[in-house]
Amino acid sequence: MAADATSLLGSAAARSRGWVDAGLSIVVPLFNEATNLTALHARILEVARALKTGRALATEVVYVDDGSRDGTLAAALKLPADGLDIQIISLSRNFGKEAALLAGLDHARLGAVLFMDGDGQHPPALVEKLVAYWLDDGYDVVYTAKAHRASEPWLRRFGVKTFYALINWGARQRIPADAGDFRLLSPRAAAALKQLPERNRFFKGLASWIGFRQIRVDYEPAERIHGRTSWNLYSLIGLSIEGLTSFSVAPLRLASLLGLLLAAAAFIFGVQILIETFVFGESVPGYPSVVVGLMVLGGVQLIMIGIMGEYIGKILSEIKARPVYFVAEHTLKTAESAGAAGDPPARSAAE
Ligand code: UDP
Ligand code: MG
Repeated sequence: MAADATSLLGSAAARSRGWVDAGLSIVVPLFNEATNLTALHARILEVARALKTGRALATEVVYVDDGSRDGTLAAALKLPADGLDIQIISLSRNFGKEAALLAGLDHARLGAVLFMDGDGQHPPALVEKLVAYWLDDGYDVVYTAKAHRASEPWLRRFGVKTFYALINWGARQRIPADAGDFRLLSPRAAAALKQLPERNRFFKGLASWIGFRQIRVDYEPAERIHGRTSWNLYSLIGLSIEGLTSFSVAPLRLASLLGLLLAAAAFIFGVQILIETFVFGESVPGYPSVVVGLMVLGGVQLIMIGIMGEYIGKILSEIKARPVYFVAEHTLKTAESAGAAGDPPARSAAE
């Protein structure tokens, strides 16, 4: 709606929602990142200060503790506000990164939203560059992508390539390969993202699907400050299946194509057998070919049932309509309260 876009800029309603002097909410999902947090927070504070002096841009950080087991929440509660609003949202258990991102998006209050990992791999120093694309050039979705994957094993690169080829097959809006979750959304793009109703979220895909003016920024991901990635081969495969099935029907199409191919092959084979029997009078050796045929057909059918099952599971979880996450505790430390050291921050139990 065009009217919406202009109202974001000027109307009183927009102003009351805090979108006019649009600020930036930085959403950081945290899962067992207690050791990284202080260093990361110091760097975020620096960026926030620069944005305030350079662009008069208000900033808040929304830390989402995704059911960590290592005292991340306690560490987050101790962080100094220092001129910056801090929200700390503690989920009732580990719901996964996509759910944590959604929780952050739901609680962001300042219009524009920036997603950043809590492990230091997304360099806060890049934030100013992303903000410049938004404020100076008017881009709505500024996403970052790994500059190159040369350091990764070829099997992984191959997997990634196949994944994006499948997910983008016949898609109107292509999901850019290699795009990460380090991404800035303008107020209207963030509002659009909030409107999407699905529970199975794949943020990379959704952020590209909403459209608006998008731009890619290449960067070199830093090493984790501390600890290990929480993804392993299985969870990556899980995320890929999740992304594929919530975004594209390519696997179903593949299934139909494969069915067609097999049927065509069977037809040709059948014709060949007829010719051999009636024209040349040869007896066809039966047993091995029958068994191989049965096994191929059986295997292919099982795979196809599995693929359909994935989609049916997705439908089931959408119609159950469960909330994506539960908030156990929500804490807000405002910039002003920072002066009065030792003030207990506003803290509320489950919402
Ligand atoms: N994360 C999360 N919940 C999870 C797993 C991860 O909130 O169940 C967060 C994690 O704390 C980090 C980000 O998601 O801030 C990315 O995780 P990680 O570094 O393990 O992934 P990678 O960088 O390898 O993609
Ligand atoms: Mg990481």
